Formats: sequence, structure tokens, C-alpha cells
Amino acid sequence: MIARMQDILNHAYENRYAVGAFNCYSYETAKAVARVAEKLNTPAIIAFGAKYLDNMEFNEIHAVVSALLENHDVPIALHLDHCSKVEDVYRAINAGFTSVMYDGSHLPFEENVANTKRVVEVAHSVGVSVEAELGSIATGLDSHEGEVGALTKYTDPDKAREFVERTGVDCLAVSIGTVHGHYKGEPNIRLDILKEINEKVGIPLVLHGGSGTPEDKIRGSIDNGIAKINVNTEISSYTIEKTREFLKDNNPHLSVLYLRQQEYMMEVIERYMKLFKND
Ligand SMILES: [Zn+2]
Repeated sequence: MIARMQDILNHAYENRYAVGAFNCYSYETAKAVARVAEKLNTPAIIAFGAKYLDNMEFNEIHAVVSALLENHDVPIALHLDHCSKVEDVYRAINAGFTSVMYDGSHLPFEENVANTKRVVEVAHSVGVSVEAELGSIATGLDSHEGEVGALTKYTDPDKAREFVERTGVDCLAVSIGTVHGHYKGEPNIRLDILKEINEKVGIPLVLHGGSGTPEDKIRGSIDNGIAKINVNTEISSYTIEKTREFLKDNNPHLSVLYLRQQEYMMEVIERYMKLFKND
């Protein structure tokens, strides 16, 4: 059964650990997340990014993931990651996603508030959680999410409080210096800003750009309200690198390659899932 995102996040927030939201691009990725979650007996989030949906429709994703989780005991939510089109957010809700991220972070504050509030009203009426974003998370080298080298705009703690109060979102993605993609240089992660945001908003916070973030910063973030951490880039880059190595000496059947790749993805997912448990 697909779990409700909010139940997973509230438990994590109250007990100071974070749940990994792993970006999935196929049946294999979703299966990899489910297998590791079961192995470690740890809740997880299967996330599909709006920009990686060229190969699957919302209803197909929902059908695959619900079949996948039918006999699973650990709670796993199905989440739509980074979607700036309100119509697509509604389509995902309609298909059975239990959580959606409406990303209006590129918009002026008032417009972001208005759109997010509208999404929250619709989503909550059918029990779906909403994540929103305030501030702008930068993109680093080899980013899979946008232009290279954009600068970070840190989230303003007072604006965050106002945003949460006015929209009623369930969790908030904050910009504290992590980047989408690989870091270009030394990351400047501002735990002091995060601490202030957490004190002001009091809801689970979300860290985007988990790949490559130093472990002590991950732990520090979890201690200051981060309850959901997104991992995307490394699942893809590590799997591609390992695939290249494997194909140098092997000439496998495609079905064998798919299984191999599932194992590479599981290695990345397991490493992060253990780190986020914070124990
Ligand atoms: Zn993101």
C-alpha cells in the first residue's frame, strides 16, 4: 500500500531523523527504493520529478508503484517532485500520488503564496500532502535540474513563517546552500539560517540536493528540522559510471543489465538511507 507522506514526515520530524526521497526514473529505480527500504526496515519516499516523466504517465507510475508496494510493510509514499505547472500537480493527485511538490520558487512571493494556497486546498480535500519551496536552490556542475552556476538565494526565515502560515503547506523546501547536481566547490551550507527557519515555522523541512553534501552537514541539518532529503544526481551518475565499467568486459542481455543497474542504484540508496537515519 502507498503510505501518506505526512504520517512519514511527522514521525521523522518528531524523532529527529530524515526520510530519503529518491528520484525515480523507471520501474527499476522504484523497485530499488522499495527493496532497500524493506531491507533496512526504513520508511522512504519514491519521488518522480516532473522533468523526468517523458517515459511514463502519472497513472502508469501509480499502477506500477502500488503493485510494487502491495506486500510491503514499511511505509513508502509516492511523491511528485518539483512541479511548477498547477495542472500537472492536479493530474498527479488524480492519479493517486500521496504527495506533491508545487514549486513556485521562481515566482514573486505573493504569486507563490497564492498558487501554493490553491494547490493545498485541493490536495488537502483528498488527503494529499503538499511540499512547497521558498528561496531558490542553486544548481551546480553537471546538474540535472537546470542551468549551471546559478547563485543560491537563501530562504528568509521571516518570509518562511509568513509563507507557511498563509498557505498551510505540510512541509517546506528551504534554500540553505545545498545545490541541485554536483557541487562546484566547497559548499557553504548555512545551518544557522536553517535553525532560525525551524524555530519560526515548526513543520518538517526539506533539503534538496542531498547528493555529495558532507555528512556532518547532513546530520546538522537533521538536528535542525530537516525531515526529508532529496537524492537524485548520484543515483543517476553512479549507475551510469558503473554501467560503463561493467560493459567494458561484458556483453550482457538487456534483462541482465537492468538487474545489475538495480543493484547499483541500491548501493547509493542504501548509503543515504543509513546516513539519514541519524543513529
Ligand atoms: Zn530539488
